[in-house]
Amino acid sequence: MLSVSEYLELVLGNVSELPPMELPISEVNGCVLAQDIYARWPLPSFDNSSMDGYAVIASDLIAASEISPVILPVIDDIPAGFKSLETLASGQAIRIMTGAPMPAGADSVIPIESTDGGSEVVTIHSPIELGSCIRHEGEDVKAGEIVLEKGISLGPRQIALIAAVGHGIISVIPKPRVAVVATGSELVEPGTELKFGLISDSNSFLITAVANDSGADAYRLPPAKDDEDTLIEILEDQVHRADLIVTTGGVSMGAYDPVKAAFIKLGTAEFHKVAMQPGMPQGFGSVGKSGESAIPIITLPGNPVSAYISFETFIRPAIRKMRGLKVLERPRTSARLKGELRSPVNKVQFARARFVEDSQVEPVGTGQGSHVLGGLAQADALIVIPVGVDRVANHGDVSVIDLRSDLA
Ligand code: AMP
Ligand code: MG
Repeated sequence: MLSVSEYLELVLGNVSELPPMELPISEVNGCVLAQDIYARWPLPSFDNSSMDGYAVIASDLIAASEISPVILPVIDDIPAGFKSLETLASGQAIRIMTGAPMPAGADSVIPIESTDGGSEVVTIHSPIELGSCIRHEGEDVKAGEIVLEKGISLGPRQIALIAAVGHGIISVIPKPRVAVVATGSELVEPGTELKFGLISDSNSFLITAVANDSGADAYRLPPAKDDEDTLIEILEDQVHRADLIVTTGGVSMGAYDPVKAAFIKLGTAEFHKVAMQPGMPQGFGSVGKSGESAIPIITLPGNPVSAYISFETFIRPAIRKMRGLKVLERPRTSARLKGELRSPVNKVQFARARFVEDSQVEPVGTGQGSHVLGGLAQADALIVIPVGVDRVANHGDVSVIDLRSDLA
């Protein structure tokens, strides 16, 4: 039997960081940056108005008040995207929209709300501070500055910055394409009637969703019967589409063996017992002949809770490695246990739990059986009880994986 960390090392040794590729920035959400991003120009790239209003010279308005307003002729009108050819002189105003370049000669903008909004002449009832409502060139980002560094995971906020500083196509490590196949002759598509003895496939939905949450581009295939030839056909078909194949079912100790046999025929496969509960039977290998065309495969146990815990323990880190990230595992925090937990002394237990307060967790579900999906659905934490501990008492300290946030 291998320890969790020994097996994780084997799984990680079987996957590599994907090669970078150039992608349009509309397609890089969730990808990891493979280049530094420098600003092609400053942000803002010119002095501009932060309000709809009038560009003026602040000293012209010093005496403006409700009873004696200042009235200025409006000599031009600047929408965003246009530049005024006029130079503002003392005693004049130019109407300006948010984002339009400041005209020469003006030193401030008075918001439209502080005026009568006139288009030929404007009546202004209050003074303004010098420099009001101007966004200055370079105040956010300087030209040539490195704004994002290689190795970070890109989300909407970073993509906006990349666009703003002038890059349309960038080099990224793409999201790993993960094919998910549930195996088992008892599986039917959810929504169809169940004949006695059959069950709805839930694993493939679970694993596809959690793989996407961990930064993969995962897709689900229909369940595969426990039949060697069918399985070989399904998996071989994925070699040119996927970067990683994940299967569930068919690899436990008593399993009817066509699944294992198929994996061995397809390429390489090794099956291990790992000292954890749930999730003891694990396997990994490759599909296709060795070298360039072979892709990694990870075979998860069939019980849904085992499949989920195994994903979190081994596949999330593997996907993060493929994405080019350096931090592979979810962080752990410590919390106080509400209630009592028992654990097999020679295995790590991952108990499903929920936070009752920020630093307190209680077990959920009708026991910790690996089929208890109702409990899994209530969980927002995993309590990790290490090897060597067989019982944690009420109020005892436990190590916890917080499932409320994803590390993508
Ligand atoms: P196995 O690992 O194939 O022996 O399956 C172990 C248990 O998990 C059995 O009770 C299966 O019916 C159940 N199981 C296997 N695959 C799935 C699946 N895709 N969805 C839900 N339960 C499954
Ligand atoms: Mg099975």
